[in-house]
Amino acid sequence: MTAIPMYSPSPASSALWKTAQAVGIVATVGLVVGLFVKPDPALFVLWNVLIPLVPVSLMVSPLIWRNVCPLATLNMAFNRSATRKLTNGLAGKAGIVAIALLAVLVPARRFAFNNDGTSLAIVIVVVGLLALALGVVFDAKAGFCNAICPVLPVERLYGQAPLLKVPNARCPSCSLCTQRGCIDLAPEKSVAQTLGAARQSTAWLRTGFGAFAAAFPGFIVGYYTSSDVALTAAGSVYLYIGAWALGSYVLITVLVSLLRLGSGLALLLLGGLALSLYYWYAVEVVLTAMGIAGLWPMALRGAALLLIGVWLTGAVPRMITRGAGS
Ligand code: SF4
Repeated sequence: MTAIPMYSPSPASSALWKTAQAVGIVATVGLVVGLFVKPDPALFVLWNVLIPLVPVSLMVSPLIWRNVCPLATLNMAFNRSATRKLTNGLAGKAGIVAIALLAVLVPARRFAFNNDGTSLAIVIVVVGLLALALGVVFDAKAGFCNAICPVLPVERLYGQAPLLKVPNARCPSCSLCTQRGCIDLAPEKSVAQTLGAARQSTAWLRTGFGAFAAAFPGFIVGYYTSSDVALTAAGSVYLYIGAWALGSYVLITVLVSLLRLGSGLALLLLGGLALSLYYWYAVEVVLTAMGIAGLWPMALRGAALLLIGVWLTGAVPRMITRGAGS
């Protein structure tokens, strides 16, 4: 297969991205060490500073995160001679694995990762080694980032209508390591390509990604209305968040059918809804952890909702003009 030349960053911005990738690796090593030896400050910085910035950065452009993500750096560190591609058949199965990993790992914050630095550090190391190993076998991002990364479904949902055009700093030319749906090639086409022909009818709701998108708003509410508990109560956490996700899926399925929404519009609205719910809850949690009260929570919630409104206002007309999935 001939490599496809890409729109590459300039030498100066390329150097900046490379520096940011190196900083990402050093910061991850520091985080893992911190989680082992000084878990409280490390957990505070991770959950209250770094993670809340990821969704908004995906909305601005998923390429920002994908250009610097330390797991992507590991995934591509040793795969120069790897040629195995992510075929359409493999991508479907890998997408289900990614969603399953997300559904297992996020609720685990409630009984493990929010307070137990050691277990979180071990998971980060294991996932990092997995990304590295899959990069040895698969071409470019075909083994991890575009396949089983648990953040991938969220990158697709929040990154479907970027506010900024950001160059791909990872692939100087495209070897088509992933047959369809690569966010780095075309973020605004990734969702439609992932759904394939199912996007032309309500069948998209029965695909892995479609089910994830419809269940995700409830998943977020379930997570934020549950509490940190002991490890012995892990089952109840999964039941509670799972019930919210299932309720969300059923409600969205009914609404999409009643309102006859096309997949393109429905998925944009679901992205906006999930982002709004995330920041509605996360702002309160983060500011409470920082001891900030008064008008700040409402001001930051308002700013987040305004930005999401701007995102939707620009994205919906573009989607209608394209006629994607409608
Ligand atoms: S990650 Fe995307 S842009 Fe890079 S080689 Fe694979 S398909 Fe091409």
